[in-house]
Amino acid sequence: MIKFPLTKLLDEQASYEWLLEILHPKGLYCPNGHAIPVGQAPHDRQREPIVKYKCRGCGKVFHIFTGTDLSGSHYTCGQIVLILRGFLQGQTTQHIAEELGLDYGTLLSWRHRIQR
Ligand SMILES: [Zn+2]
Repeated sequence: MIKFPLTKLLDEQASYEWLLEILHPKGLYCPNGHAIPVGQAPHDRQREPIVKYKCRGCGKVFHIFTGTDLSGSHYTCGQIVLILRGFLQGQTTQHIAEELGLDYGTLLSWRHRIQR
């Protein structure tokens, strides 16, 4: 059977922007509730497009997943989009893991965490 390279076909930046809208519909705030001024440059671009910001109000460094159920994930934005889609569509963890080439056990613990 043909394996579709779904993750490679998804645009990382577009996936990031979609996740940003889903996770932070009112915009990105630091963990202490300070808004990021429009146009503030990221503090750390090592994992682009998941860039880190440093709050000018309290100095906290954070990114899109800080304080969410996805905090600590090492998946790419494209993988997260497809994982969430799979969960919401009721696909089995085994199916999603195989389709995206991910570790089943790790994905299963993420599923439990996200669906809690
Ligand atoms: Zn702050």
